[in-house]
Amino acid sequence: MYAYHELIYDLIRLDVFQKEMSFFSIGSSYLGQNLFCVKSGMGPKNILVVAGHHSLETILSEVIMEYLFRSKNEWFQGVSFYTVPLLNPDGADIVVGRIKHPRFSSDRSRWQANYRGVDLNHNYDAGFFLAKELVKKDGITAPNHTKYGGEEPFSEPETRAIRDLCKKIPFDVAVALHSQGEEIYYEYDGVVPEGTEQYLNTFRKNSHYTITKPTGTASHGGMKDWFIKTYQKPAFTIEAGLGKNPLPHSLFSKLYADCKVILDSVIETVRNEPKNRDI
Ligand SMILES: [Zn+2]
Repeated sequence: MYAYHELIYDLIRLDVFQKEMSFFSIGSSYLGQNLFCVKSGMGPKNILVVAGHHSLETILSEVIMEYLFRSKNEWFQGVSFYTVPLLNPDGADIVVGRIKHPRFSSDRSRWQANYRGVDLNHNYDAGFFLAKELVKKDGITAPNHTKYGGEEPFSEPETRAIRDLCKKIPFDVAVALHSQGEEIYYEYDGVVPEGTEQYLNTFRKNSHYTITKPTGTASHGGMKDWFIKTYQKPAFTIEAGLGKNPLPHSLFSKLYADCKVILDSVIETVRNEPKNRDI
């Protein structure tokens, strides 16, 4: 399975100079591992793609790296494409057994949270306390392998790194890659930011994934929710693939193909967006 070492190996292999890319760290995980971000292109439109919030879903981290490997430099013309391939390196390392967790060793094979037992995609500041109440009904009130959102929004260094990156760079659109369900979520609490429909039209044209709204505990506290609430710009959660997490590596080619059309669609749409009239 894909974890921190595999990501470092791929970053070295990426040959960023030839690819006209750069990579840097946007912060550190709880255990001090780097939260790497790769930037491709130097255009005025800024795109953020984040994978690996959940440690059983790091096949999408591998997918996004493969996307960078296979993309030609010209493809990123007009955009700056920022990807954070693995936001939860500690969780991923727990799943593969490189990091031993003193309290939760029996949950290793179903570990989705970070080292502190906080589900990063429940830790953003969007309906945080509502999500907390909802998961209470599932009996989740303390650090856990999944769904526990933390004591307060942005209590975790990993989500704070995304928040701070978004403060520095005015992203036009944000995408979070998860598995699974073959679904695309696009709104938060009834809010559909201006420009969202253009993306959905391109997705409808190119992807077979269902465009839908999340329900229950998945409808608050996530990156997409917070991004829409804070910036009123389009943001999407992609639930890639079908099956039980972690998805088997035999699905990699299909996952890659599915995500490629979606990421290509995002780039195509943002590039074609009309410029502000008063400029
Ligand atoms: Zn997920």
